[in-house]
Amino acid sequence: MLVVLGMAAVLWAIRHRMQRRVDELEGRLHEHTTVLDARQLEINRLEMELATSTQRLRKLKRLVAIDPLTGIANRRHFDRTLEREVRRARREAIPISVIFCDIDGFKLYNDTQGHAQGDEALTLVAQTLAETFRRGSELAARYGGEEFVVILPGVDVAQASLFAERLRRQIWRLGIPFASAPVGDRLTISAGVATLTSEELAGDPSLLAKAPEALLNSADAALYRAKCLGRNRVAVKTSAGPAIVAVDLAS
Ligand code: GH3
Ligand code: MG
Ligand code: MG
Repeated sequence: MLVVLGMAAVLWAIRHRMQRRVDELEGRLHEHTTVLDARQLEINRLEMELATSTQRLRKLKRLVAIDPLTGIANRRHFDRTLEREVRRARREAIPISVIFCDIDGFKLYNDTQGHAQGDEALTLVAQTLAETFRRGSELAARYGGEEFVVILPGVDVAQASLFAERLRRQIWRLGIPFASAPVGDRLTISAGVATLTSEELAGDPSLLAKAPEALLNSADAALYRAKCLGRNRVAVKTSAGPAIVAVDLAS
């Protein structure tokens, strides 16, 4: 009898010790779970913060690339894109063209119609540009003031001239009234076109860094020529010198 009681006491003691151990382990598990839950909450909070910051960063990136008045790309975005696209054109052995546009007699437009109306006209011209050049790698941007630029990767000089002429006509067709305009009775633009051929791009690689600026300067020189020749027209910078490809005052 005593032996049985002794064994029962030993078994009870073992069971009791095991129960204490189980309780202890459960307690530790509970502590770990609580810590894990807190960490998960912290992770969720950080993930939400990260998503908000990423969204803010995207918005900021868009803002630094966009001209606030017209809503199209700004000069900074244009400069970066031109550099990138010139390098890509060289890699892919394709030409690249640039159109440099400028509103004709815009100072007079502001003086006669008022600055607010001037802002509206600028926005309308900018939107027409952006709608005209919206394919894949094309980019239309406000370069500054009443000057706009377009990048046309893979486009040769003949095609770019046609695009510039089409744009000039589109601005003419907007029919923005301008009684004392340099040409006709409405707001017009002049445009200069320049191209880097794939052969030119394949030349001395040390000149590549200067190629975007050179291309833009050529388009600007052509624009100056279009202005000198009477405005509301497109001029093209060819290697032989600038030449007028289109004059159309009535369409
Ligand atoms: P041209 O035919 O030779 O280009 O003559 P222009 O009068 O267009 O050229 P000019 O450079 O003399 O004048 C540009 C004008 O553009 C002067 C400036 O007041 C106006 N302008 C520049 N930026 C803005 C703008 O953000 N809003 C408005 N409303 N006008 C602007
Ligand atoms: Mg100008
Ligand atoms: Mg002007």
